[in-house]
Amino acid sequence: MSLLSVIIPCYNEEENIFFFYEEFIKNQPFFSENDMEFELLYVDDGSMDHTVAEVKKLHEQDDRIHLVSFSRNFGKEAAMYAGLQKAKGDYVVIMDADLQDPPSLLPEMFSYISEGYDSVATRRVSRKGEPPIRSFFARRFYRLMKKISKTEIMDGARDFRLMTRQMVDAILSMKEYNRFTKGIFGWVGFKTKWLEYENVERLKGETKWNFWKLLLYSFEGITAFSTMPLLLASVVGVFFCVLAFLMIIFIIVRKLIYGDPVSGWPSLVCIILMTSGVQFFCTGILGQYLAKTYMEVKNRPIYLVKEEL
Ligand code: UDP
Ligand code: MG
Repeated sequence: MSLLSVIIPCYNEEENIFFFYEEFIKNQPFFSENDMEFELLYVDDGSMDHTVAEVKKLHEQDDRIHLVSFSRNFGKEAAMYAGLQKAKGDYVVIMDADLQDPPSLLPEMFSYISEGYDSVATRRVSRKGEPPIRSFFARRFYRLMKKISKTEIMDGARDFRLMTRQMVDAILSMKEYNRFTKGIFGWVGFKTKWLEYENVERLKGETKWNFWKLLLYSFEGITAFSTMPLLLASVVGVFFCVLAFLMIIFIIVRKLIYGDPVSGWPSLVCIILMTSGVQFFCTGILGQYLAKTYMEVKNRPIYLVKEEL
């Protein structure tokens, strides 16, 4: 008998809890055929609605259902980490509660595991139903990451991923506070099969991500998996030094040839504004990394559990 742990991060998903369960157990014949058990681990990320009550109701009917409930909203990253820590399975899969990650894909995913892959990941090929500017910036982000980070981060990758115990343990060994799981999956390596599927609309409720949340999340990704911006700051510094040096030579030569007419106040102001702007920009980059280091050094827990079933 092997055990599959299913991690379901939930934040205000009261309407979806039951439907997810119903949809998931349609795979029961597949599990029985393959001598497999499963546990469903709902991780409640500090929901304000009746998510916890819904999971408790299910737990009473079916003891394969478990709940980890946070003391407040810690974010999906924290919820996934908690799930991975609590999962006991030989295989672990992370799935959204809103059925955007279809459970019907699981048999196909398992077929690749038996072929010898350590992990089967999914990416959506279309961004249908997403606001155009969000798609635009998302594409830019993945392009940029490809250039500035050694870690592979796939465009359109979802967190829906089936992993072996070995890979889960590798992920758990990364205890960083600023978690960017899409990067962590790539960083740990292992043989990964990518499945592609069309974007599915969420069942009920609304997405928890807005443009600004995603933008901030992308900065998280950049600082967590690349130090290129720091290098960029130094390069910009060197560029301005060279520029200044050339200007000095130019001014000295002009003085020797033409004398010294006092002029150029506007250009001076422009130069000062420009260089101080660049300086603030670079200090900002430094600040970002310092802030991340500060949070990391504090070594706070990634999540706090209020209740567990
Ligand atoms: N989620 C979470 N904590 C949060 C935000 C979201 O656990 O702070 C969960 C949410 O309940 C869902 C999954 O993460 O199961 C994906 O969220 P959502 O569907 O809002 O994102 P999208 O699919 O639109 O990217
Ligand atoms: Mg969703």
